[in-house]
Amino acid sequence: FCQNIEKEIRTSPKNVIFMIGDGMGLSHVHAAMTVSQKKLNLQHFPVIGLQETESSDNYITDSAASATALASGEKARNGVIGINPDGAFTESIIEVLIKQGFKTGLIATNTITHATPAAFIAHQPDRNMYEEIAADISNSGINIIIGGGLKHFTDRADKLNLVEKMKKQGYDFFEDVSQINSSRDKVLALTANSHMPFKINGRGDFLPVAVEKALYSLNKDNDKGFFLMVEGSQIDPACHNNDQEQFLAEMLDFDKAIGVALDFARENGETLVVVTGDHETGGVTVLKGNYETGEVKVNFSTKGHTGVMLPVYSYGPGSKIFSGFFDNTDFKERFIFSLNLENK
Ligand SMILES: [Zn+2]
Repeated sequence: FCQNIEKEIRTSPKNVIFMIGDGMGLSHVHAAMTVSQKKLNLQHFPVIGLQETESSDNYITDSAASATALASGEKARNGVIGINPDGAFTESIIEVLIKQGFKTGLIATNTITHATPAAFIAHQPDRNMYEEIAADISNSGINIIIGGGLKHFTDRADKLNLVEKMKKQGYDFFEDVSQINSSRDKVLALTANSHMPFKINGRGDFLPVAVEKALYSLNKDNDKGFFLMVEGSQIDPACHNNDQEQFLAEMLDFDKAIGVALDFARENGETLVVVTGDHETGGVTVLKGNYETGEVKVNFSTKGHTGVMLPVYSYGPGSKIFSGFFDNTDFKERFIFSLNLENK
């Protein structure tokens, strides 16, 4: 077992799957572990680290600043997408890898224009500039885009129809995740006008299916490699609601999507999977639990975010450098280092 793990963590990956549970802290994982009554996929990751999340102007980050840091290795002010405190555009790992010829993808259960996916490709001074962010996405060259937010592409102040524009660039367009033809290289799937519903309100298997379809498309006929970012977007709003049932359903759904990524990585052998959060939401503590019955009682200490450090779970070649204690600005250079780009 240990020899296999050594081999896995020391070599260089071809592909990276980066999965971000918005608002996911350690207590969220522990509560999900208790309610699930079987091992979570997260419990199979051999390498664990811790990341610190503060933004450039606040001990407590928001998702725009933290996603900018995760994506580009630079701190930003709260509310800002892909721009550093000096006003310069940051360069995300996805922007670097597109130039290098990698295939790339973004998946979210919120609108694809929301802070976390946006920070991987857009540059806007305010996270609420959804139509401007959609325009940035339409100029990005990302291969696979799956999430909500159709209205930001089609019902716009400037009257442009970005879906039609992207079809002309060679994207196949889908409004239902199950309809995605994953034999295609360029996929734009906008599956709700705004956010997808909460898991408990009928989202179904949207997220695991989206991950499976994206991985098939990105891996097909690909000698260079790919980078896929997947966001479990709605752990955060469920915790803003202080709703235990809602957030545990989101956690188990995110873990199911993690299982799809892990199965792919085990079979593929050349894929690094890294899972973390962007900040903790809800100040969640686990007060009571029973692993046999799956009962759990959590307490929320805030309706907002907290500054507590977050767990980082890694699997596959290159995973070892995601251990220890590091900053949310350290992910990008670690991805670049692990991909060993200069030798490709
Ligand atoms: Zn939040």
